Amino acid sequence: MLSWLTGKCTEAAQVGTLGVQQLSRKGSPVASLMPVLFILAVVFVFYVAATNNPLRKCPRCGGKGTLPSSVLEGRYRICPRCNRKGEIGN
Ligand SMILES: [Zn+2]
Repeated sequence: MLSWLTGKCTEAAQVGTLGVQQLSRKGSPVASLMPVLFILAVVFVFYVAATNNPLRKCPRCGGKGTLPSSVLEGRYRICPRCNRKGEIGN
């Protein structure tokens, strides 16, 4: 039983290394780095957008611009923090 298990394990490991070798042989090192570079680029773009945008989402209404009324159910009142714009300046 144990030998059968270890045999399966080594078999799987061999298949795994074979697959990796085939992958690395097929594509260039730059191609294998492309997903990482893409993720880094997306993070960078989001970082720049977050730092350069002078407006940010209103924390009181969550960007909706309205708050649920406490007096009348199902009605909304204008958010006093952002005056219905949904975003506030820094
Ligand atoms: Zn608001």
